[in-house]
Amino acid sequence: MIRAPFQALTFDLDDTLWDNGGVMAATETGHYAWLDEALARWLAERGEADLGRFAARFPLEAYQRRRRELAERHPLRRGDFTWLREQALLGLLEAFGLPRAAAWLWALAAMERFHDLRLRVSPYPEVEPMLATLGRHYRLGAITNGNLAFDRLPLRRHFAVAIAAGEMHTPKPDPRPFLLTLAKLGATPARAMHIGDSWQEDVLPAVRLGMQAAWIAGDTPHGAPLPAGVHRLSHVRELPALLEKLGRG
Ligand SMILES: [Mg+2]
Repeated sequence: MIRAPFQALTFDLDDTLWDNGGVMAATETGHYAWLDEALARWLAERGEADLGRFAARFPLEAYQRRRRELAERHPLRRGDFTWLREQALLGLLEAFGLPRAAAWLWALAAMERFHDLRLRVSPYPEVEPMLATLGRHYRLGAITNGNLAFDRLPLRRHFAVAIAAGEMHTPKPDPRPFLLTLAKLGATPARAMHIGDSWQEDVLPAVRLGMQAAWIAGDTPHGAPLPAGVHRLSHVRELPALLEKLGRG
């Protein structure tokens, strides 16, 4: 039986519940390559192949550069990665020579492909049973800066609340997504713990609000002593043991 002084646990997703690096890289190249090929086929069928290949005119780096420029021009939207991608694709497709309606259609189709690929995350094997058990003792929330369609993952059912902070234009470390999640969970910061891998985006904002934090530090070298209320774990699978220890304390 887990006993702990907490009402609620909030979780970061990427690189906390799964390793995101490989999926993100494959998603980035995969949806752009899909767009290039599908668009080339579509143009060929319509006898418009003389436009050439989209990715030859606008390689992946041009798409990435355009997203950075958009984020600088629209600082409030800098964490809304889906919007930045859609707008960047739309601009490039129009510059390529597509009429606006067709550019929209292809930008949205590419983003659908993006979301399909982005969801190919593999939660660590311990995560599913761990969340099922924790959900019997705590209210669970998810707070991500990422833009994966979390509602489409089976894991989503364990969480009473899931907040996409970037799409709210308040990406972590902004305190607002934490406060919103806790309000929806009916928990006070003092009786909640946030679990995440980022010192800047997870641990610091949680501690500033008076939450405790479990820092999924991986093999980050040990440095200065941790602030009060911060607990270092090398993997999220160690969380139940930590909660048990704190509950006994
Ligand atoms: Mg993370």
